[in-house]
Amino acid sequence: MAGLKAYRAKRSFSATPEPRGTKEKGKSHRFVIHKHDARHLHYDLRLELDGTLKSWAVPKGPPHELHEKHLAIMVEDHPLAYRTFKGRIPAGQYGAGTVEIWDHGTYETGENLSSTELERKMKRDLADRKLKIRFHGKKLHEAFALVRMNNPKIKNGWLLMKESDK
Ligand code: MN
Repeated sequence: MAGLKAYRAKRSFSATPEPRGTKEKGKSHRFVIHKHDARHLHYDLRLELDGTLKSWAVPKGPPHELHEKHLAIMVEDHPLAYRTFKGRIPAGQYGAGTVEIWDHGTYETGENLSSTELERKMKRDLADRKLKIRFHGKKLHEAFALVRMNNPKIKNGWLLMKESDK
């Protein structure tokens, strides 16, 4: 899912405080994890890549135990401006409820790559459906893997796995 078409199609920007956003240039690699108290409380993991935020809804949030796996559903790309979004999405709007920032910072793959190399590797790994991510956040400092599931019954299903301790 590339671009912001799907993101914009779901939202009415006259009614929601969420950013309309633009696709941006740049090769920084920041992340945010939103805690989203919508119809069901869940977390949203968003990784900056290719000028947008690749996004997954993670019902249980990041796993705590080493090798533990939590379901992560890939959703539409969000604009980079969403990285700092928090607030209340009004009733009747898509994702109605409160959004807070649970963690944020930067990520890399743990291989000491330049930002250009990291950008290239992440794009390739996303196409291969297997990402390695080490977070440098306020809460998270560990390495995780994000791997596409093979189960065709779970649409856009990925697994977020904890791969290292601090
Ligand atoms: Mn959400």
